[in-house]
Amino acid sequence: MIFLEKQSEKKVLPGDFIATEEEFEAGKDTFEENGDIRSAAIGKVVENTARHTVSVQKPFVLESARRGDLVYAEVFLVRDNSVIVALLKDPDAKEKRVSPFGRAAIPIRMVSRDYVENLRALFKVGDIVKAKIAAIHADCMDLKTDEPDLGVVKAFCSVCRAPLEKFGETFKCTECGSNEERKASTEYGA
Ligand SMILES: [Zn+2]
Repeated sequence: MIFLEKQSEKKVLPGDFIATEEEFEAGKDTFEENGDIRSAAIGKVVENTARHTVSVQKPFVLESARRGDLVYAEVFLVRDNSVIVALLKDPDAKEKRVSPFGRAAIPIRMVSRDYVENLRALFKVGDIVKAKIAAIHADCMDLKTDEPDLGVVKAFCSVCRAPLEKFGETFKCTECGSNEERKASTEYGA
């Protein structure tokens, strides 16, 4: 599970000191030298406290991701046939709004079991989405939201950006009164 790992903001270059071998075991994209663990790549330091390993996360690569893993992501762009999202590293990201970790796409056919006519009505830029990894390709990742608990978990008004409240099937902005639609998770507002 990628979320058990703590990604620090510490950026490293190849050869940079990360930790001593007393503190951690050398993980992916690190190497040992005279009792020190050093980086073998450009990236950010990831500490796995459960396994006592330290590794380097290269940017925009989800090395530890597996098909079927749950991820949270922020909608970045909505196209006619896919939603482009920025993956969020932390499971609490819908609250903390941590920085983007990588990009992925939700193809329109994987959005819902129902027929989707207008993708742009169901997702808006800035929404937070809970999704499952459907496929991992060399340079991109496909996500799916076609299960009841998957979909938008936090939505923002497309007019004034205030958080939307769910009333039945409708999403209402209590600030400006706008009514919207979403492919929402059953966990919306929970
Ligand atoms: Zn509004």
